[in-house]
Amino acid sequence: MKYLKYILSFFLILLLILGLSVEKKHQKTEYLLDTVITLTAYGKNADTAITKAFDEIKRIDGVFSAYSEKSEIHKINQNAAQGFVNVSDEVFYVLKTAVYVSEKTNGAFDITLKPVCDLWDVGGSNQRIPKDDEIKEALKKTGYADLELDEKNKSIRFKKSGMAIDLGAIAKGYASDRAVEIFKNCGVKNAVLDLGGNIAVIGKMPLSPLECVKYKNTHRPFVIGIQNPSGKRGDVIKSVSCDEDMYIITSGGYERYFEENGKRYHHIIDPKTGMPAESGILSATVISKSGILGDAYSTAAFVLGENAEGTPFDFSDRLIIIDSDLNIKEYGSD
Ligand code: AMP
Ligand code: MG
Repeated sequence: MKYLKYILSFFLILLLILGLSVEKKHQKTEYLLDTVITLTAYGKNADTAITKAFDEIKRIDGVFSAYSEKSEIHKINQNAAQGFVNVSDEVFYVLKTAVYVSEKTNGAFDITLKPVCDLWDVGGSNQRIPKDDEIKEALKKTGYADLELDEKNKSIRFKKSGMAIDLGAIAKGYASDRAVEIFKNCGVKNAVLDLGGNIAVIGKMPLSPLECVKYKNTHRPFVIGIQNPSGKRGDVIKSVSCDEDMYIITSGGYERYFEENGKRYHHIIDPKTGMPAESGILSATVISKSGILGDAYSTAAFVLGENAEGTPFDFSDRLIIIDSDLNIKEYGSD
């Protein structure tokens, strides 16, 4: 009993020391790139890093939006059917990566689907089920093989008239790569970046003083939840523990859709049919070392469904598929 007060004092001092050394959490949410973005960072420079990262994401939004008349993508869509259009190095890099993923996924990923996506306008003010012949006509204006990229002059041309590109399935991944780079340059050691289903993790989660005592550690791996495609927002179907820096990127038919006559029509299009992809799965999550590749591959994996296993993905990634019976299937290296 006589030692109790010493023991209590010891723990109080320990908590105080740990409390002082705990890295403060900073968090900010904004709506950009057509999605809700939440950046969380811990410790020194976290606040500055978040501000700088949001500035960069805002800039990227301006460059890549297919709908802003000032964007480079708009400029391409207006002029590339008439001849080569010069683009910035970063736009060329994203275009080149998009074509690379199209080739790797047998065309399941295709940024030239804009004429078809515009017909469906899922989530927009004109969303509707297009007629078969409208889809057939729009499909004639698509095909990544009809994009011509000129590496030397950093320019692009459409080989067919009426073509248009939409980088919505890859721009968030590119933006998350850039935001991660900014965080690291600012010296941030621990952070989670959530760009609407595109999650990037840096380092580990700092624990509170009480947790430090409980776990006898100052940090533990971040745990990222994969959304239950049939559940409410935030309902987790599987958790991924992040032992290292990684991207966890999900594409799903539950993200954006409309319903008509009891049937759901979502925003990810199968380039072969021009219809919302129906590969028998509800979501595809890619775990990757690259944000841009993970984003493109997760969209492709959703189109391909379980066939994704057979495609020549060159990722050192894992793929987690939730099928229509909510079975969880994992592929790839671990
Ligand atoms: P994500 O949420 O990353 O899977 O991207 C979906 C968005 O990419 C859609 O809203 C469309 O703008 C566009 N998109 C739809 N289908 C495809 C596809 N098969 N390949 C590339 N982009 C697509
Ligand atoms: Mg994507």
